[in-house]
Amino acid sequence: MASTGLGFSSCFDSGNGTLQNVEEADGKTVMKVLIKDDPYTEVDGRAHKMWFHFKVSNLQTLKGKPLTVVLTNAGDCSYPGGWGGEALKGTPEGAAPYRACFSVDRTNWLRLDDTKYVDGALHMTLDAKAQTALGSQNSVYFAYFAPYSQELHMETMAGLVAQSPKTEIKTIGQTLDGADMEVVVVKNPEGVVENPKSLWFIARQHPGESMASWWMEGFLRRLLDPADPVANALLSKAVVYVVPMMNPDGAKRGYLRTNAAGANLNREWANPKEDYSPEVFWVLKEMHKTGLDLALDVHGDEALPFNFISGGEGCPRWSDRLASLQKEFCEAYQDANPDFQLVHGYPIDEKGTANLAICSNALLEAFDAPVMTLEMPFKDNANAPDKAMGWSTDRCKKLGESSLDATLKVVEKL
Ligand SMILES: [Zn+2]
Repeated sequence: MASTGLGFSSCFDSGNGTLQNVEEADGKTVMKVLIKDDPYTEVDGRAHKMWFHFKVSNLQTLKGKPLTVVLTNAGDCSYPGGWGGEALKGTPEGAAPYRACFSVDRTNWLRLDDTKYVDGALHMTLDAKAQTALGSQNSVYFAYFAPYSQELHMETMAGLVAQSPKTEIKTIGQTLDGADMEVVVVKNPEGVVENPKSLWFIARQHPGESMASWWMEGFLRRLLDPADPVANALLSKAVVYVVPMMNPDGAKRGYLRTNAAGANLNREWANPKEDYSPEVFWVLKEMHKTGLDLALDVHGDEALPFNFISGGEGCPRWSDRLASLQKEFCEAYQDANPDFQLVHGYPIDEKGTANLAICSNALLEAFDAPVMTLEMPFKDNANAPDKAMGWSTDRCKKLGESSLDATLKVVEKL
């Protein structure tokens, strides 16, 4: 506990943050916090960090004085451009500034307007609006984005997913920490479909990208809804394989990008190893058993305030057929949900230059199928910003739901 009487902890599922000190300065209290490193990642030549999630308690000891929490090593994080700052003004990355997330009940996450990135440190001040939201509460949680812990994932699997007559949950292997690697097989419960397509949806390879789990919750809820006509039409043509949590160990340990051994899973698909990246090893093995006609890998991007697809243009097997399927999927996605857009995204690779250790590229090469990476923002959708919530858990869920419309549009052409 800090000398001022304030409490600090990140000792819980998906927590990250170490208390440095608490100081009184100019009539306010300043709490300095370090973001903890992921284990060293060989292929990236660094230890990643950026995810934070911690609790500050005993707020009543402040006696109404303002509190600023400073992430002192924000500038050493993996994507310092994601924090915003003056340099990004006028760029797509600067179109919506980063604002930290806070919550008192761990369910409703609001944005902190007074979030500033200055000289390599992120300053998060509980301003008057935040104080009103806190009311008389004595504790507050801070996070990079609304967290989705491994425990919450397990509750979703045991409740929503396991209870549906459309699903079978298969354990296909284990992680290095001993968590189950699970695939949800979603089928038409009414009977056998002739020559069904195999569609794969995976999320949370990068454990700090918790928006991917909120997306998955929306996606699964709609796919399993017995009354949803789009979901049922899709399941009359396809079997859907879902891995909602690719990296349980990293999620539980509060990492940004790696598993327990420091493997960046989205750089492991060329040659996954059972003793280093078992998560990819087991899922890829399963994909080879079922075949794969389309796949979507769901992520979050630290810098760009937009939802977009990163496609397979750089792959050696990229073709007119795959280009047309990807285009049709993306256009249908935008029609179904205007939070998805086609203007802003990553630079497009020249054909033949793609990194084939990345999931989407490796799968496109192996299966000659459209395989895409979906990126959502940590910040907000700059085309339709939400002042209170930023890019929110509810909009992640809606974007997950809408992917079914886009998938149905292309399924017969796969
Ligand atoms: Zn990612």
